[in-house]
Amino acid sequence: MPTTSPEPQHVLVLNCGSSSLKFAIIDANDGHEIISGLAERLGDKAPSIKYKFNGAKTVIDLAANQAHAEAINTLVNLIKDHNLDEHLIAVGHRVVHGGEHFTKSVLIDEDVINGITKASSLAPLHGHANLLGISSAQASFIGLPQVAVFDTAFHQTMDEVAYLYALPYKLYTDYGVRRYGMHGTSHYYVAGQTAKLLNQPVEKSNFISAHLGNGCSVTAIKNGKSVDTSMGLTPLAGIVMGTRSGDIDPGLFNFLTTQLSYNAQQIDNLLNQESGLLGISELSNDCRTIEEAAVAGHKQARLALDIFCYRLAKQIAAYMVPLQCLDALIFTGGIGENSDIIRENVINQLAFLGFSCNQKSNLDARFGNQGIISSANTSPKAVVMPTNEEWVIALDAANIVKEL
Ligand code: AMP
Repeated sequence: MPTTSPEPQHVLVLNCGSSSLKFAIIDANDGHEIISGLAERLGDKAPSIKYKFNGAKTVIDLAANQAHAEAINTLVNLIKDHNLDEHLIAVGHRVVHGGEHFTKSVLIDEDVINGITKASSLAPLHGHANLLGISSAQASFIGLPQVAVFDTAFHQTMDEVAYLYALPYKLYTDYGVRRYGMHGTSHYYVAGQTAKLLNQPVEKSNFISAHLGNGCSVTAIKNGKSVDTSMGLTPLAGIVMGTRSGDIDPGLFNFLTTQLSYNAQQIDNLLNQESGLLGISELSNDCRTIEEAAVAGHKQARLALDIFCYRLAKQIAAYMVPLQCLDALIFTGGIGENSDIIRENVINQLAFLGFSCNQKSNLDARFGNQGIISSANTSPKAVVMPTNEEWVIALDAANIVKEL
């Protein structure tokens, strides 16, 4: 019987960061990527767009200081020049903060824009970029459905015991101050894929997923649902990251202001941009550079790696409290998918929970390869699972469009 291939269901996925824009056109039928790229250093001296199309890589230099709006214009021209808008059924936007209002992906309308605007006071840099991305896409693709997929949505299943801070309750009721968590789309995706890999239903799986990229977060997933996560009101909380401190003593604020005359903006820069792996190593925020330097004997690079792994292992162990029993620890994100050094270090620190690292499988699971990296017949399992947030966004957008 001849089979007919399904109609193309192309979704333009836009992920606007504070100074970057990741984009892709993905066929929601099968995940095939038609074009993908990254605009970076937006608003800086030398912004550029790199993209991959038909197997070729191209770089477009933007004029100095050009930012999201210009990058999106260039992208739209690129799409139209190659007739890539022909099969577009939707634009899917990654939105960092959905507050408490958004528990799943939604079709964007005026109410949704108002909701995102309200929530963006909780993550101003990202929120502003997300809103710009939405308005530019609406202006460029008139009539095309736009869908918002929230980084916070997966974590809306947390109980108040996990999400409330021990602060005056009014800060929560009047201003929404609480733990929200981020990277939800990634944690959700790798949990589903790991359940498939282990051949068990995700609704009956207990996982701890470690998304380790430039930003890093750990999530406790009980019966397929997020029950706790390390990021908080903002993406600054939790474990050590590339340039972010993760959790610190909040008393530091008083010390820095009264003893060292820092103002709020300087403290924000210190914690978000000058800390983490970069702050400790005084060398780089890039994990590859740190690992190479550590091997070559750079003491602070070694220390940065040790602190990163120790804090990560401690966070994972803490999540045994809500989970009680664990099927697998999942590593994902640029570091989680590629750094066998960090994975082995963390697994060894967690040997008391039953973990054991299989060195060969650990080395094999790099550069986009998934795999079980714990020794055979040991439990819990340790798994490397490449994330694919763009694919989740494309699927959610296509499913919402189907319902229209
Ligand atoms: P992401 O934000 O997910 O793109 O992850 C970026 C981080 O992944 C950076 O710190 C990179 O240094 C790190 N990374 C990428 N490849 C490797 C690798 N082969 N070994 C160690 N870290 C890596």
